[in-house]
Amino acid sequence: MRRQVAERAGYCCEYCRLAEADMFLGCHIDHVISEKHGGLTQPDNLAYACVFCNLHKGSDIASLTGAGELVALYNPRRQRWQEHFRLQGALILPTTTVGEVTVRLLQFNHPDRLLEREALLVVNRYPPA
Ligand SMILES: [Zn+2]
Repeated sequence: MRRQVAERAGYCCEYCRLAEADMFLGCHIDHVISEKHGGLTQPDNLAYACVFCNLHKGSDIASLTGAGELVALYNPRRQRWQEHFRLQGALILPTTTVGEVTVRLLQFNHPDRLLEREALLVVNRYPPA
């Protein structure tokens, strides 16, 4: 099942879109809806996620916007990345409230992660084809 999830994701993190080949630590299999919230270990609830996205997401399934609205996190099985995020250079910017809570909770634009993506941009390895 792990191989199936990895292949479906094109061997890239389905949250920050970093290619596994460019990661030191590789990817984890993420339960989009965590098991403690009733999510099952089956392909339609699994996503390929880099260590940083997976660890920051943990078992969370939602967060609060800056305005205090409870919003579900981005679901790579049910939503399209391009509908919730856009790239500005190496920055991942939210375009919806789903994007807003996901960018913040998963810390997409932490300075260390930005540096990594900026370096990959320079050599045309981010975003992956
Ligand atoms: Zn990631």
